[in-house]
Amino acid sequence: MAAAFVRRAARLVTADADRLTRLDAAVGDGDHGLNLSRGFAAAVEALPEAALPGKVLIAAGRAIVSKTGGASGPLYGTALRRAGKALGDAEEIDAAMLGAALRAALEGVRELGQAAEGDKTMVDALVPAVVAYEAALGKGESLAECARAAAEAAEVGAEATVSMRARKGRASYLGERSVGHLDPGAASTVLVLRALSDVAAG
Ligand code: ADP
Ligand code: MG
Ligand code: MG
Repeated sequence: MAAAFVRRAARLVTADADRLTRLDAAVGDGDHGLNLSRGFAAAVEALPEAALPGKVLIAAGRAIVSKTGGASGPLYGTALRRAGKALGDAEEIDAAMLGAALRAALEGVRELGQAAEGDKTMVDALVPAVVAYEAALGKGESLAECARAAAEAAEVGAEATVSMRARKGRASYLGERSVGHLDPGAASTVLVLRALSDVAAG
């Protein structure tokens, strides 16, 4: 499932690279689509054969950190590496384990980027996703249902960045002028969580 997720994420960010780049052109330097499609292509290249899910995510995360420019490379790479570490040596991933991995990914992003909710970053998509995942998990829902809840919540969270003023990353240089634009990193986070949900749905 881990390798299929990385491949699916690569496909979705590449398919939407132009849109991500346009979003980034409005508030940043217009390279987010290129950064992520390069990074995830490198992750696919680096996928180890027949490895445990945790090892797959760690390898993918390392490749993203080393091959992706910009702020987003280290953030996504850290997210995947932390998720992989949380999975440890598990051979099969259940809903609770995936929830712990998502939580670890979020903590990694927060630690590295120091962004809080409302700062208009990928954190604004990731936090509601993890919260929704955990809520679904608490109701005893399946891994696929939890992942779908996470992807849907990420989308709502990303939409909410439109009205926010950026306080982190390049968009923060725009100050008040960043208001009215969707954050590119929040938009790409939606794609990555959709990839997870797609793969979980089988
Ligand atoms: P760069 O801004 O270096 O060109 P990208 O365009 O690839 O990098 O990524 C920009 C995205 O990275 C932003 O839209 C935002 O979501 C995310 N980002 C930037 N800084 C931070 C941060 N400190 N914490 C969390 N996310 C951040
Ligand atoms: Mg950029
Ligand atoms: Mg850049």
